[in-house]
Amino acid sequence: MNVGIPRALLYFDYFPLWQTFLSLAGFEITISPPTNKDILNKGVSLCVDDACLPVKLFHGHTADLADKVDVIFIPRLISISPGEYICPKFIGLPEMIKNSVKGLPPLIIFDYNLHKDLKGEKIAFGRLGTELGVGGRAIDNAYKEAKRRQLIYRGILESGQNPLSILYPKERWDEKLGTKGTIGVIGHPYLLYDRYISMDIIRKILDNGYNVKVPANVSHSTIEKRLENMPKNLFWSYGKRILGSGMDWLADDRIHGIIFVDSFGCGIDSFVGELLHRYNIRGRRLPYTTITLDEHTGRAGFDTRLEAFLDMMEWAG
Ligand code: SF4
Repeated sequence: MNVGIPRALLYFDYFPLWQTFLSLAGFEITISPPTNKDILNKGVSLCVDDACLPVKLFHGHTADLADKVDVIFIPRLISISPGEYICPKFIGLPEMIKNSVKGLPPLIIFDYNLHKDLKGEKIAFGRLGTELGVGGRAIDNAYKEAKRRQLIYRGILESGQNPLSILYPKERWDEKLGTKGTIGVIGHPYLLYDRYISMDIIRKILDNGYNVKVPANVSHSTIEKRLENMPKNLFWSYGKRILGSGMDWLADDRIHGIIFVDSFGCGIDSFVGELLHRYNIRGRRLPYTTITLDEHTGRAGFDTRLEAFLDMMEWAG
């Protein structure tokens, strides 16, 4: 059986876990292609207007797989860390897809909820195996190996490696070439690592002679430490990651500027972006800009914003 996985949303964070599990459980896997104009247009036409761009893209990637696979894997991520939640759009995703995209093969809904404790992960994969008709030792072994590869992926990113060097290994991503300084690029992985929709921002910054860091390069423990003095606990996992990494860069002399890439209509991004901007104004006053993406974002306008920011970096010297 051929299982389709949409290359969108948290695929970019969890692909080693999902792909390894499904392939070791004996399935063929098809990942939708990198985002292109056709996928974006499909997503925009199928999804409700007021959804954010990443959710629209997920619709486009799912529709793209419709006639290529036997079933489509749709994650329903409720919580990825005990005591925390992620954006409610992830919870409603399977229902949105079922109601908006017609002509799909059967959907495999992967319910994933670690809100109570980490044991929820093994339970989720056990249920997934049962739904796919695989059980026993094969599932245990597939889960263990998938988990191992996921931890390796996370460890490599936390050691500072550019995630695009893993996702697009055929290209050269030698960060040591950057001699002008380092720019922290803040945003969700599904915006930053999707080269079409992010207008290839990471490549453009590298080509301008700067190194790039992304939130995945900051360890979980560092993020917790940076946020421990916040007046209130944040309970959105990705909001924490974005704010915590930004706070870490504001305190790190090796970071010389910050670009916040957010998605139009995202409540979490608008809140966290404003907080980080205020901390920067009260503290280091690093060159800082926000670039908001939606389906209408034009390449020329985007490049102009980026060039203006890079000019500001030069002046700040
Ligand atoms: S966190 Fe923001 S960008 Fe991500 S799915 Fe939710 S609304 Fe969209």
